[in-house]
Amino acid sequence: MSEPVKITIPCEVCRDLAPLVQDGAASAGSAALVREHLQTCAGCRALFPDLAGAGETLPAPPPPDDGRVLRALRERINGLLLAFMAGGTLLGNLVMFSPNFSVFFLLIFPAVTGVACWLDSRLWRLTPLLACVMAFVPDYLRLLGEAQGTLRPVRAFVHAVRNGWLLWAVLIVLCLLGALAARLFQYAVKGEKSDETADR
Ligand SMILES: [Zn+2]
Repeated sequence: MSEPVKITIPCEVCRDLAPLVQDGAASAGSAALVREHLQTCAGCRALFPDLAGAGETLPAPPPPDDGRVLRALRERINGLLLAFMAGGTLLGNLVMFSPNFSVFFLLIFPAVTGVACWLDSRLWRLTPLLACVMAFVPDYLRLLGEAQGTLRPVRAFVHAVRNGWLLWAVLIVLCLLGALAARLFQYAVKGEKSDETADR
């Protein structure tokens, strides 16, 4: 009498439950009962051959299409995010160099980086680079126009770096502050188990 009591189900219950098990909609207990029945009942096994062969493992691996669709969606979102970051840092530079609203750049760079950091744990890191490039390019082009001699590109570059490095440092700090704020907010909202914060 050491054998444990086994619950068995009749064929009609098995045939009712089997489609749910196939869809992954049945509970683990129901799935186990169905599989147990299929092991002993050739009639039901013939009706649900794929379940009979599946053993104890749960069915329904995601169709291979899913990965491709998700990847395409992901790339699309990344493209939009990059466009947002480029547009945001460009706007920040335009505001920074405009005589009227120059103070608002202090908010724009952290805000753009913060939103990007919230949306993507990696891509936001391009924001400080974008901010600096957007500040560098117009200055470089202006200095290139003013420079003389054969080493014009080099001279303009050195001049632009000498002009710009302090500003770039400020922009990088502003961006990092925005990212830090987003991370802190993320921790507060989602908790530490968030996988987005797992990669630093
Ligand atoms: Zn049966």
